[in-house]
Amino acid sequence: MKTNDTFRIAVLPGDGIGVEVMQPCLAVLEAASNRIGGFRLAFDRREAGALCYRDTGVALPEASLAAARTADAILLGAMGWPEIRYADGTEISPQIDLRIEFGLYAGVRPVRALPSTTPILADQRSKALDFVVIRESTEGLFASRGKGTVLDDREGRDTMVITRDVCERLFDFAFELARARRKNGGKGIVTCVDKANVFASFAFFRKIFDERAALHPDITANHAYIDATALFMVRKPWEFDVLVTENMFGDILSDLGAGLIGGMGFAPSADIGDEHAVFQPCHGTAPDIAGQDKANPTAMLLSAAMMLEWLGEKHDRQQAVTAGQLIRGAVDSAFDRGIRPFEIGGRDGTTEIARRVLEALKTVEPATA
Ligand code: ATP
Repeated sequence: MKTNDTFRIAVLPGDGIGVEVMQPCLAVLEAASNRIGGFRLAFDRREAGALCYRDTGVALPEASLAAARTADAILLGAMGWPEIRYADGTEISPQIDLRIEFGLYAGVRPVRALPSTTPILADQRSKALDFVVIRESTEGLFASRGKGTVLDDREGRDTMVITRDVCERLFDFAFELARARRKNGGKGIVTCVDKANVFASFAFFRKIFDERAALHPDITANHAYIDATALFMVRKPWEFDVLVTENMFGDILSDLGAGLIGGMGFAPSADIGDEHAVFQPCHGTAPDIAGQDKANPTAMLLSAAMMLEWLGEKHDRQQAVTAGQLIRGAVDSAFDRGIRPFEIGGRDGTTEIARRVLEALKTVEPATA
């Protein structure tokens, strides 16, 4: 239980548009907490990422990691840069290291259409899309990161890892999320997405899902294969509620989900563990648009809203939950009043979108997830 009213937030802006979307995000967080009151935010800005690696030889300095470890929450922009790589040719991605270091197994990636945006799919039901992809974020095929082998320039190998310990917590998290969403009109369905018809590791994944489903009989438990899920996400995504899947599959499905709601700049995420959590947009550093004020900060702002809600629920501070809902309400209101990011063919850049959200924040009502 927290004894003071200040949440310390480790802020890791990172590289490229990560830095550009973080700046308005901190202003919006500050404005939301000031309007609601009852708690404070102390931002502890730290270096990490590809430019940090280029300049210091270290991608995630000890001091940054220590600050993240002791913070109440971690807010991250985006990290990596195509031309800056480790000696083995792989990209700099401390955001993945943080997930492993802090055991952030539940990658929560909401797919929610914003008001007054033109749906990508023609069917009008996609205007009200609202489902969540939970990407397991510590093992699966990514367990092989840095450990894969190529034999004699002839054969490449990477190994998938699925553990009971992580799966049990992941599935319980998914059922609890579906239960919480049902209070706000959610369907109360969790769908396990796998390839259990082909791989032993996925058959095991599904077996554990069924075991945990039996402990949550109030929630409907479904199964779907990954290939069919990709089809359904395009054909009838409005039927989903909570999807839970392996790391690599979740990586791909969450980008598909982002595509359904306008692009990467609309897709927030939270990587949640038992103690720590990192909140960051799903997107990368977008070198193609960096430095042009073209980045859509919406995903970053909605990730910050998720952070406040998580902090408020964890520490029993309703004001923080309300401030998170207020940010979501302000984003919705700004879109309803016609902001159009470059990403969807509009003319509103990072600065203008931030200005309009800050303006909306003065008057809007909080919006539930
Ligand atoms: P990573 O592998 O690091 O996650 P990525 O390869 O998925 O990154 P992104 O950096 O996410 O690539 O960019 C993918 C595309 O989406 C690019 O064309 C980029 O310009 C666009 N994009 C990403 N984020 C935003 C944003 N916030 N606003 C506008 N466009 C964006």
